[in-house]
Amino acid sequence: MLKKLLPYIFSIIICNTIFAQSLTPPLPVKESTEGYLNTSAKEIQLTPSVKNFFITQQSELPVYEDTPSYIVVLYEKDDGSLLFKIPKVIRYVSLMLMTDNSKKVLFRGAMEADTIPIKISAGEELPVDRILDDGYIVFLKRNNLLFKVYVSKSETGISFSKKNRFDKYAEEQKKKNLYYYKGEWISKEKLDEIKKEAELQEAKRKDKLKNVKAAAEEGYMVLKNSEILEGRFNGIAKDQILFNAGGFERWIKLDETADGMNTAQIVSIGKIFSAGKMLEKANALYVNNELGQAMRFATKCNNLLKEIQDNSNPDLKAKLKAAENLSDKIMKTLKAENKSLYNYQVFKTDELNYHLNEKHILFRNSIWLKPEQLCIRCNGSGLIDCPVCNGLGYISKHCPNCKNGFVQCTICEGRGWRSCPQCNGNGYIMKKCGKCNGSGYVSVTSLGGYYRPYRPVVSPGVIATSGGIVVNIPPTCYYPSYYYNDFSYRRVKCDICGGTGQMQVTCPKCNGSGRLPCPKVQICPVCGGKTIINSVCNECHGKKKISCPDCEGKGYHGKAQQFPPTQKNNVENQPPGKGTEKMSVP
Ligand SMILES: [Zn+2]
Ligand SMILES: [Zn+2]
Ligand SMILES: [Zn+2]
Ligand SMILES: [Zn+2]
Ligand SMILES: [Zn+2]
Ligand SMILES: [Zn+2]
Repeated sequence: MLKKLLPYIFSIIICNTIFAQSLTPPLPVKESTEGYLNTSAKEIQLTPSVKNFFITQQSELPVYEDTPSYIVVLYEKDDGSLLFKIPKVIRYVSLMLMTDNSKKVLFRGAMEADTIPIKISAGEELPVDRILDDGYIVFLKRNNLLFKVYVSKSETGISFSKKNRFDKYAEEQKKKNLYYYKGEWISKEKLDEIKKEAELQEAKRKDKLKNVKAAAEEGYMVLKNSEILEGRFNGIAKDQILFNAGGFERWIKLDETADGMNTAQIVSIGKIFSAGKMLEKANALYVNNELGQAMRFATKCNNLLKEIQDNSNPDLKAKLKAAENLSDKIMKTLKAENKSLYNYQVFKTDELNYHLNEKHILFRNSIWLKPEQLCIRCNGSGLIDCPVCNGLGYISKHCPNCKNGFVQCTICEGRGWRSCPQCNGNGYIMKKCGKCNGSGYVSVTSLGGYYRPYRPVVSPGVIATSGGIVVNIPPTCYYPSYYYNDFSYRRVKCDICGGTGQMQVTCPKCNGSGRLPCPKVQICPVCGGKTIINSVCNECHGKKKISCPDCEGKGYHGKAQQFPPTQKNNVENQPPGKGTEKMSVP
């Protein structure tokens, strides 16, 4: 108990000392519109309304105090809570189960417990919940428990006040132009300044979020740790942005992002970063003597840098210069080797000039053609839609198994009914006879007669039991039947089932018909009821396209244009006329 209460006691002492120094009364544990009760310099004890109380089974009550020898639980009541002190003896402990991290006790059985007084410390201020004729219902806070207690008006050492002590003190301070802010009394001017500053910070935060989000939407984020992310904006929640960088999605807090940058600045940093990577790639390609591809990346890098609107970034000029330098180097290298670029492909300059002068077109980045050499049928792709399946990749045909998606039912073979499985089509089932309970025999009252035992008797003259009846077999009687005259019961064949023990009853499943209704048709298993079946096209093997028959899949007719030109270059390269066009469909 002391262990748990000590911090509390200390906190009161510490609070009181601090506030005694600063003269600021503590804030009430709860605001009240009714008013507050104040205790004087003396501790008071509130006598409980009852001496003991019956705790019902399955009650779960919060722990108020826990000591090695007893436990105090709180029973919250709107008209005045009670404290129960329960000694830790086997009799009680066995009924109690600590729950909620030992913050509560679950009573597995009912018990009668004694109540104890509730202590109110000297100088404590209690918010009033409501005022009664003879007393007050006030709020009390102990160990994070806020509950209501009853304080009688006749209790000595209490006084009522409409306002709490803190508010009263604050009013006095206000006259001196002092306002409470986070444990300090400050001037109105200072308070306004603080408020203004807080508003400013909030505005800054909103502005930052707006800028960071806009930049993220353009694909870039810059973090405080100088990390630059390039990727895709995927969403926003409160102060966090969901960003996918390099295929990896993560939440980035606004606090993690770099401060003091607007959207254009963030985007420019991102683009310069991205351009830097392209430039690296371009340089590597240049070193590898892949001049066409090196130029492609250098140009990409240059274009990206030119998109940047924020010119203040010093890296921008450096990167632009580097990109231009690389382009120059590539061009110089090409010139030295008498080579030129066309569509980022390297050609000998005189060869390129020849083709361009002749208005040849570069086909698939590798060969030169006269424009009329391009295959009209396949538009140069070398592929046409498969004529057999019309480019579908499959051929549809009517289902050979059915006419309308249905076939004859395999269960009933179209009869419309099937044999009842419960009675095997008999219409009746056998049940144990109710009269003889399946034995086939019933006992009847009788005065005498011959008895034919249904169980063989060991030998005449010996006592045997039959169906629970002791039978004294007369020595004169010979097996298998004997006379008796002094038994009141005798067993005879059951008249209902004729001794079979079984009875025929109408089958409840088919109501005696032996048949159950069955649909005459079923969905065709071949086409699944769709009436058509699709099979992979034999011509294109499902690829939808076939090699163009006009150009044999090359995409052009004749031979590629050579440099230097040979004399008979164009003679045999005319595309086939309409009359000679071969059909691909057999
Ligand atoms: Zn079918
Ligand atoms: Zn059927
Ligand atoms: Zn049946
Ligand atoms: Zn029977
Ligand atoms: Zn096809
Ligand atoms: Zn073609």
